[in-house]
Amino acid sequence: MSMNQLYDIAVVGSGPAGLTAALYARRAGKSVLVIEKENFGGQITFSPKIENYPTAMAISGAEFAEKLLAQAEAHGTVLEMDNIAAMERQGAEFVLKGEYGQYRAKAVILATGSRHRTLGLAHEAELTGRGVCYCAVCDGAFFKDQDVAVIGGGNTALQDAVFLSELCTSVTIVQNLPELTGDPVLQQKIKELENVSVICEATVDTLLGEKQLTGIRILRGAEKTPEVLAVSGMFVAIGQQPENEPFASFSALDGYGYLIADERCTTDTAGVFVAGDCRTKQIRQVVTAVADGAAAALAACRYLDQ
Ligand SMILES: Cc1cc2nc3c(=O)[nH]c(=O)nc-3n(C[C@H](O)[C@H](O)[C@H](O)COP(=O)(O)OP(=O)(O)OC[C@H]3O[C@@H](n4cnc5c(N)ncnc54)[C@H](O)[C@@H]3O)c2cc1C
Repeated sequence: MSMNQLYDIAVVGSGPAGLTAALYARRAGKSVLVIEKENFGGQITFSPKIENYPTAMAISGAEFAEKLLAQAEAHGTVLEMDNIAAMERQGAEFVLKGEYGQYRAKAVILATGSRHRTLGLAHEAELTGRGVCYCAVCDGAFFKDQDVAVIGGGNTALQDAVFLSELCTSVTIVQNLPELTGDPVLQQKIKELENVSVICEATVDTLLGEKQLTGIRILRGAEKTPEVLAVSGMFVAIGQQPENEPFASFSALDGYGYLIADERCTTDTAGVFVAGDCRTKQIRQVVTAVADGAAAALAACRYLDQ
């Protein structure tokens, strides 16, 4: 692409939110550049199977992402591979600074997503989608009538455990701290569930299984006593990591690093919009990300047409 080209809209991030924003903006006649630092399609590409996106009974994340990308491209979206490390305002324009170039646009949509924190264990990446999961709502149904573990003790972990208890034979919560840290109401609910047990002061040490998770080895207590839990699913619920620091001077971040915005997808800065998992919201799913993409794109179009 030409470094001098001024786009109507630059979108940072090519997940479901960013690519949907591009589709809507292109169909409204705007020139659109989408900049992606890692893989086009975003984090959904790592999902082996999506069963909760309306109209698709079952589709792999990779195929879903491919279709999204093809649709955005067919409508004339320009794609660029770069990692945006900084953003500046120059008059009425925004300049996005990447490792390989600088990109100019009249409006910007931030769709940077967020990452699930991982445990950092050997084979964790290989076993992701093969027993190792980071989203109970997305993948819980694949573990019906099976034994699973939830790693973490905060609200997300406890909510995941409650959700999974209705599907799975047993749920074991493994928490590294001496006690659970989620809301007392959730803790009470956990106590009442017969098929949920809690192990505190324990860390996961080893993932068992080659092609599919067959169990986890945990180290318990101060003595770090090893114990194997025979589970076919492990749901890691130790938080998410948004990557919004380069944009913090344009839009306030909450205490967890999410861009503060409601479903209108507008920010503190006129001309800067946010969409998808990177913003403050309750439910981080494909269906909510694509909804944001549409809202942000149409808000950006209104801004440009003022
Ligand atoms: C294993 C797995 C399974 C899942 N299964 C389901 C499911 O079954 N159903 C469901 O609804 N949801 C599922 N999800 C959640 C779903 O993937 C997300 O909610 C959705 O992808 C969010 O879309 P997004 O566009 O907001 O962000 P993302 O998909 O996270 O995309 C953001 C993109 O921005 C890029 N980016 C970030 N910073 C920069 C930068 N500075 N410069 C350039 N590019 C940048 C990132 O590389 C990334 O590609 C799953 C997630 C995972 C990890």
